[in-house]
Amino acid sequence: MLIPSILQAGGVKVKPLLLRSGHWFNISALNDIDIHTAVSILREQYAAWKKPAVSIVAQCERNPYKVLVSCIISLRTKDEVTAKASERLFARAENPADMAELSIDEIASLIYPAGFYRNKSEQINEISRRLVSDYGSTVPEEIDELLVFKGVGRKTANLVLTLGFGKQGICVDTHVHRICNRWGYISTKSPEESEKMLRKKLPAEYWIPINDLLVAFGQNICHPVSPRCTVCRLTGLCSRVGVTVSR
Ligand code: SF4
Repeated sequence: MLIPSILQAGGVKVKPLLLRSGHWFNISALNDIDIHTAVSILREQYAAWKKPAVSIVAQCERNPYKVLVSCIISLRTKDEVTAKASERLFARAENPADMAELSIDEIASLIYPAGFYRNKSEQINEISRRLVSDYGSTVPEEIDELLVFKGVGRKTANLVLTLGFGKQGICVDTHVHRICNRWGYISTKSPEESEKMLRKKLPAEYWIPINDLLVAFGQNICHPVSPRCTVCRLTGLCSRVGVTVSR
């Protein structure tokens, strides 16, 4: 069997893909991914995938405070744990004033076993108190104001804007950063850089949905380690930049 040579995409080596049929997939998509086709394929498949926990919270009720708190709980925590921890916590307190009445220990026991639950309970307590004292118990709608809260980074702030307020923003987490780079759509080193590039390049209509779609896609198909390229419907579009092991 003739094995194709290693190809280059954006200066990065791209390993050819052996399909289940036994044929080598000769990667030709070394240019920009067709983003409209890619999003349309992702949307077709999305219904069958497990949804990210924070999206489920937002779908139940567009509530910026709950999106903010769930997003804090979700950092470095499995979705199943985030969903249950958020449910337990919101059953006790679902607004800043009620949350500020709970002690840090109570919050910690409600969100356990979320990763770093102790630090997160301190952050949730501090944010809730500050929202009550300085913001009339409402979550601010500007990204710069959100970023001053302890524990709130660009990912969380963008998610609050997009899912909580329905405002324009691009939430770039590890999945969005990894997948857009694998596609060859952008070439960046960090999620912050990816957000800047995507703000210039991604059509505005996809800014809000891209996170939800790519988190679900990343959890179900384009895994961080060994993505499932042989069953992925984007193989014909994707440059597989940096992918050395796949299945
Ligand atoms: S699973 Fe493979 S082919 Fe599909 S988007 Fe990820 S790297 Fe590209």
